[in-house]
Amino acid sequence: KEKKADGPVSARLEGDAERVLSAREKKAKEIEECQRSLPVFPFKEDLIQAIRDHQVLIIEGETGSGKTTQIPQFLYHSGFCDNDMKIGCTQPRRVAAMSVAARVAEELAVKLGNEVGYSIRFEDCTSERTRIKYMTDGMLLREFLSEPDLGSYSVMIIDEAHERTLHTDVLFGLVKDIARFRKDLKLLISSATLDAEKFADFFDGAPIFRIPGRRYPVDIYYTKAPEADYIDACVVTVLQIHVTQPLGDILVFLTGQEEIETCQELLLERTRRLGSKIKELIILPIYANLPSEMQAKIFEPTPPGARKVILATNIAETSLTIDGIIYVIDPGFAKQNSYNARTGMESLIVTPVSKASANQRAGRAGRVAAGKCFRLYTAWSYAHELEDNAVPEIQRVNLGSVVLLLKSLGIDDLLSFDFLDPPPQETLMLALEQLYALGGLNHRGELTTLGRRMSELPVDPQLSKMIIASEKYHCSEEVVTIAAMLSVNNSVFYRPKDKAVHADTARKNFFVPGGDHLVLLNVYEQWAETDFSTQWCYENFIQYRSMKRARDVRDQLASMLERIEVPLVSANKDDNTAIRKAITAGFFYHTARLTKAGGYQTVKQSQTVHIHPNSCLFEDLPRWVIYFELVFTTKEFMRQIVEIESVWLREVAPHYYKGKELDDSTNKKMPKGRGKSKVELER
Ligand code: ADP
Ligand code: MG
Repeated sequence: KEKKADGPVSARLEGDAERVLSAREKKAKEIEECQRSLPVFPFKEDLIQAIRDHQVLIIEGETGSGKTTQIPQFLYHSGFCDNDMKIGCTQPRRVAAMSVAARVAEELAVKLGNEVGYSIRFEDCTSERTRIKYMTDGMLLREFLSEPDLGSYSVMIIDEAHERTLHTDVLFGLVKDIARFRKDLKLLISSATLDAEKFADFFDGAPIFRIPGRRYPVDIYYTKAPEADYIDACVVTVLQIHVTQPLGDILVFLTGQEEIETCQELLLERTRRLGSKIKELIILPIYANLPSEMQAKIFEPTPPGARKVILATNIAETSLTIDGIIYVIDPGFAKQNSYNARTGMESLIVTPVSKASANQRAGRAGRVAAGKCFRLYTAWSYAHELEDNAVPEIQRVNLGSVVLLLKSLGIDDLLSFDFLDPPPQETLMLALEQLYALGGLNHRGELTTLGRRMSELPVDPQLSKMIIASEKYHCSEEVVTIAAMLSVNNSVFYRPKDKAVHADTARKNFFVPGGDHLVLLNVYEQWAETDFSTQWCYENFIQYRSMKRARDVRDQLASMLERIEVPLVSANKDDNTAIRKAITAGFFYHTARLTKAGGYQTVKQSQTVHIHPNSCLFEDLPRWVIYFELVFTTKEFMRQIVEIESVWLREVAPHYYKGKELDDSTNKKMPKGRGKSKVELER
């Protein structure tokens, strides 16, 4: 509005300032009330004293008691950041690291990235000023490379220790070792559950500080018979709760983004059909790849009269606490890495959760009031089919990247490394063999120059090798793009149910000869040509968010290449052989060949595998392919495959592939009616 301002202006400004101030004060008051209500609050002084008295302390307290958000603040206010020292706190999941850091910054009324920051792979949101630093356990492992004594930290908190992720388990051994010669470093191991004794034993009898939890009773309901389609069962249960039960938010545990999106669509569709007959139902997803502004939504208070339903992965099991949950729906599954050391096959499998997980999930319903948990499986299943505890990750994954990292930290004798639970010896041996085949270790198991360069890149050894090999084949620009695209690989193409046909056509428009890696490259290059347009993504059924992330990852990787002296050069546009060879140099382990019967078998282990129907090579049946990953859904599917020639294998891994294995027994006998191999067409 027009102003003719003499006197009144300053008065008005003062009024505004007052209002702003009071809003800020109100917020501060809210936050303080919230902090006071947390179970950890009354223990502040005792806890600080215990930390002063002991170098290592195990902290046990139920989820939601305030361990992650409050303890670093207690330390911050008690002088542990004097002399520019930092407090570190690790999280197994990157979403948790980001979200918790954002919350703590808000509580301290500072800008995220200043006094409070976070560091996750490909994203560093910290600065010189950062005193409280949340980070993924994987990032702390990498920090050991640049700061082996963690000299800039006064306190390190290994949080969510009960999750027993691979990286957390390796950290236990490393921090225990460091604590021996850095007597001034305080070590806190914080856990939500029963493993405290075990941690205490491992850390030479460290004392346990228990924060008594508050919990309301949770009634547990089971289904009478097993559910054939648990997504549908979830949708039905949500609607039943919504229609028949008093207000209170619902938390549903699903296994991943795809399931969450399916469930979300179904719920939207059915609530729309019910129209105004029902109260408002706010549907909110939360999973690792969700952009942070959407992640923050789950914490917003539910408007009066409405109900919130949160569709989450097991990130909401212990890492994130959402207030106001009264109902939990638990289908009883989670996605788990599984690795077969005998065959060297790794896959992501939907697996039944453990009893411990099921109980954690149920517990989420009883934080603010008595709650209900609906288990979409039978009571018999729970009693007889679920394991008591999940197997720690270190015992069921490929150890390649961790072994490479430990080797580059100078830890040579891995068999006598201090593990809380040691990995199976054969997995360790296989990791050493694979690194040897990749050229990262020599025949004595020592790190090579190549191995050192590989460990500089924060990606798996195979990807790392692929990127470094691109130097030799003069295609680093393209290969870095491919690596970045693979890091977001399953969320590039957008396929809404109601436009599935259009989406599939759009996807096929990106197909190019050679394989899926090249399709991903094509998508990125076309997008880059539009100057990274949002509109272009929208028109082509490409997920803009994923592309943006791919671009960030690509930029980061490109700058890291500078450090290891790999120049960025572009390949010949008309021949993708160089690119495919670089991929082969990293992934020669993942080779499958066409069999006479028209199926695929892995070369080394003769395991039957299948081309994923989404692959651009689905109808082509090339004789030799390299896959990026195997996923087991209904069958063992190879996802992201590229066509290669068998002679390349001998070129890139002569010590790994022996003559006979690469004989082309299939020759040109293609099954009738199926497409022709591109290699064959070229000849
Ligand atoms: P613990 O680590 O013991 O499980 P937390 O410190 O994570 O507990 O949680 C303490 C409280 O902080 C919970 O009530 C939770 O809802 C709240 N909280 C955590 N993150 C956020 C956020 N991003 N926004 C709002 N509240 C949050
Ligand atoms: Mg926590």
